[in-house]
Amino acid sequence: MAATDLQATVTHDAEGTLVQLSGIIDESAGDALQAVQGQVTGALRLNVGGVRSVNSFGVGQLMRFLEQTSRAHRVTFEDCSETFVDLFQMMGLSAYGKITSFYASYSCDTCPIRESRRIVVSRHLRLDPRTNSVEAASFPCSCGGTLLQDDALDFAADYL
Ligand SMILES: [Zn+2]
Repeated sequence: MAATDLQATVTHDAEGTLVQLSGIIDESAGDALQAVQGQVTGALRLNVGGVRSVNSFGVGQLMRFLEQTSRAHRVTFEDCSETFVDLFQMMGLSAYGKITSFYASYSCDTCPIRESRRIVVSRHLRLDPRTNSVEAASFPCSCGGTLLQDDALDFAADYL
């Protein structure tokens, strides 16, 4: 096994710093995250689309990183998997930053297709002002039916 199972790719642009994490966040992630921390300038966009799993030690490492980084930088989370969204809510990661895009499960109203769709908060979600609930865009299915969002997205209300 490699010394660390987490890869971090850091790029800088006009908006700040994009960090793409991929692999596994576990007890060995601390060094990689610490190396990232020194390279953050401006706002941090943390793309977690390539993260396959996070164990309980990894959560600790991630929270330590976010705790320190969010003091000096605005943090947003991109491409959160359904698992990461669960983790995000369970661990209260919203204290450190907002989710800007994530994956949610959709089912077709006509055929048995079920799939994960990437949701961009600013583009695909809106808040129903009457019920105060979060409504997600639907997508066309290849069968001609409509893909409708399955899960409760109330967690996203804070980001709208
Ligand atoms: Zn369909």
